[in-house]
Amino acid sequence: MRERMGHPRKKDPALGQILQGDAPFGAEAPPLGAFLKEEIRAGERGFTFRGREPLREIAAHLDGILRLGLPGRTVSVLKGAQVGLTTLAIGLALYAAAVRRLNVGYFLPDQDFADRFDATRVRPLLRGSKLARAMREGCWKGASPKGLLEFPGLDGSRFLYVLGLRDIGNAISLPLDLLIRDEVDDLPPGNLKWSEDRLDASRLALTVNLAVGRMPGEGIHAMYLRGDQRRWLVPCLGCGKEWALEEEWPGVLKEEEGRLLLACPGCGAALSPRAGRWAAAAPGESGGERSYRLSQLAVPAIGLERVAAKWEAARLPGERARFRCSSLAMPDAGEMQPLTRALFRRLRDEAPCWLEEVPA
Ligand SMILES: [Zn+2]
Repeated sequence: MRERMGHPRKKDPALGQILQGDAPFGAEAPPLGAFLKEEIRAGERGFTFRGREPLREIAAHLDGILRLGLPGRTVSVLKGAQVGLTTLAIGLALYAAAVRRLNVGYFLPDQDFADRFDATRVRPLLRGSKLARAMREGCWKGASPKGLLEFPGLDGSRFLYVLGLRDIGNAISLPLDLLIRDEVDDLPPGNLKWSEDRLDASRLALTVNLAVGRMPGEGIHAMYLRGDQRRWLVPCLGCGKEWALEEEWPGVLKEEEGRLLLACPGCGAALSPRAGRWAAAAPGESGGERSYRLSQLAVPAIGLERVAAKWEAARLPGERARFRCSSLAMPDAGEMQPLTRALFRRLRDEAPCWLEEVPA
């Protein structure tokens, strides 16, 4: 017994590495952009901003908040489908937990969705790099098979939770520094409020909302309107005007020698979305809340042919409304009427059924 105590205890090499302070990312934390490139996979290769140029500023802004520790910020993105933002958000979640040592919640509409998301999006995104190696070697491990990644360190563990927000019982007391809410329009409003309370104890308390908007003035669209309302403006080299392409659709679509291209609605010169810039429509009125509207037209990685084909196929008003939501990032309720007092009154008066109004 005594003899054994005299020998230095054989250490787990991975654990030793952590105890000696040799963090997998070194003393100098890499910026978010570099982390995304090194650690996050998008398709076959590493994450890239090429063809998704508008994401660069969003990533830089989030990086700045984390680096400077700016408290209580909200960043909301009203987006078209498949613009690459979920990949960026997953990268942000991993970066915040692994590098910035924060507790992160990634919330999705329901647990089932969250499980599938965890299986299909988060884990495959870990490339065969420092992060994946550290997890494999046991420095960091998934503490639970579902929805929870643990990032231990000298200063204790940090967690990334991937959770469905419909069932909040399984996460009732978890404190968070960064709250990411994906597809907010499908999250129950009461649970949205609950998720905000998770940030109460945090000095950072950063909220990131992202979704395809469905209802004008509600959900992610309301969050966009509360922020500084950034639009991606593309300059025309012909006449010098700048255009928010989604607002001009389909006036910016042009066919030339059998090829589709984006063109200036004023002078007809070709437009390059890559050359655009973010400009706030409501600067200074937002109390530090930043919001972006990112349509598919601003993302060359999504082929214009695909967008145009969807537009061609959408003939009915409801289909057109769906196109406006998912491609242009301009919420349109289409045939989905919101339930209003007036509508109830009409139904009560005209329909052969009984509806009673709840007293106001
Ligand atoms: Zn022009």
